[in-house]
Amino acid sequence: MSAFDFDLVFIGGGPGGYVAAIRARQLGLRVAVVEKEKVGGVCLNIGCIPSKALIDRASKFNALHELAEYSVKVDLSAFDYSGVQAFSRKAADKLSKGVEFLLKKNEVETIAGTARLTGAHELSIALNAGGERRIKSLAIVIATGSRPREVPGFEFDERRVLSSTGALMLKKLPRRLAILGAGAIGMEFAFIMNAFGVEVTVVEMLERILPMEDSAAASVAGKAFERRGVKFLVGTKAFSLDRGSSDGSPLVLSLGPAASAVPDTKLEADAVLVSIGRSPNTGGLGLEEIGVRLDRSFVEVGDYYETAASGIYAIGDIVKGEPQLAHVASAQGEIVAERVASLLYKQSTVSESHASLPHRRVDLGLIPSAVYCEPQVAGFGLREEALKASGVKCNSASFPFRGVGKAVAIDEAEGFVKILTDPATGAILSAFAVGPEATELIHELLLAKSSELLPQDIYSMIHAHPTLSEAVKEASLAVEGRAIHT
Ligand code: FAD
Repeated sequence: MSAFDFDLVFIGGGPGGYVAAIRARQLGLRVAVVEKEKVGGVCLNIGCIPSKALIDRASKFNALHELAEYSVKVDLSAFDYSGVQAFSRKAADKLSKGVEFLLKKNEVETIAGTARLTGAHELSIALNAGGERRIKSLAIVIATGSRPREVPGFEFDERRVLSSTGALMLKKLPRRLAILGAGAIGMEFAFIMNAFGVEVTVVEMLERILPMEDSAAASVAGKAFERRGVKFLVGTKAFSLDRGSSDGSPLVLSLGPAASAVPDTKLEADAVLVSIGRSPNTGGLGLEEIGVRLDRSFVEVGDYYETAASGIYAIGDIVKGEPQLAHVASAQGEIVAERVASLLYKQSTVSESHASLPHRRVDLGLIPSAVYCEPQVAGFGLREEALKASGVKCNSASFPFRGVGKAVAIDEAEGFVKILTDPATGAILSAFAVGPEATELIHELLLAKSSELLPQDIYSMIHAHPTLSEAVKEASLAVEGRAIHT
């Protein structure tokens, strides 16, 4: 009889914890997930899913206006945004319940409570239902995720000074919204709010929007936003916020050049969304007491996401140096589940068929990034500037959507697919896309790269006509200077 209650316990049931827990069960481990709120974590409940539900409704709302071109009159006078918000909550709840079901079906024990480490193999859980439960586990995975980062002076009240969570919960929209931060989350909310008629101004400290994405792709997206009336103030810092004397007074932001020490302009708004990054949830878990090393609150990990404390692993938004994305959290979690199973197999507790050795870490060059506004922006691998800065030679080939029949037919011909290749071997180094369904199209290129296929393998494959995927084929042809529709 084992001295441990479980082989693997996850603290946190987000896309890191719950996916890995199911994988660990598939591998025959005894698994529990401790979750203090709702399984599915930020992603399903207050992140990826409800925001995509709003984006979808925003797109459909924009499309209504296009009907006016055909003399279709749409009466929006009774429009009530609270119905849209309720739709997004329904999508989130449905998926969170789905995850509850999946955990149950896979016989993962879900414990509702807040966990804290009390030893290398021990947890104390303050149960949501009251009381404490102590459990022992051979291995423990910290998957506690992150929360919106606060800026001094712009502390969230979630009524007028909003985090992404507050913005998702709004039932009534402000007339004017200032958004601090033009990363993926800021841009997605800019798209949503602008579609529903909010006057949006995005303030970004860096010199351009979507600083993590390909610069040409970001520029295409920026122009599309500007045409719809979104204002961007780049290279601009928000210094302070005057909240006025009551909720009815406008908010006044003091802004100035990012390089300057003093503000020089004011911006009035009815609400501010602060989306400048996310802070890891690593406080109060007893991590440092048992030897887990932190760097500015992020967890330092080695191979297989094991922390400095043996048998304690960390995955997801808390990991130092890896992108804070749901699919990254899940991929890291699967590595840990497979690692722990393979270690146990050596001790003959799980079946041999499951004992193949896992990857040590997620390959950062193979992580897709995706921004779901219109036009969509996606990519993987190092940007052209970063490749050049690190002395890597690359060839760049791109193909515009205006040469793709389907894109023209659906009137979404803005943007391009770009492939960067190694001039010596022709190997794909990275790829970027901006345009219709870019977040879906990027995966054909990613599969090619991860399978070490060459552009010619892509263009040799027959792509259905008319499809948006033809942009990927043409971009692959463009690598050899032989695109057809250009
Ligand atoms: P989380 O999802 O944060 O889950 C951690 C869980 O741990 C939480 O449920 C929390 O309640 C629980 N927990 C914390 N402490 C304890 C404790 N002590 N005891 C018990 N439970 C605890 N990513 C994408 O890939 N694509 C997107 O489109 C995307 N859109 C986003 C949109 C928004 C608005 C936001 C905010 C985020 C978005 N993200 C997106 C990021 C994504 O949500 C996160 O990267 C992902 O949720 C991280 O997963 P995780 O498992 O590390 O943590």
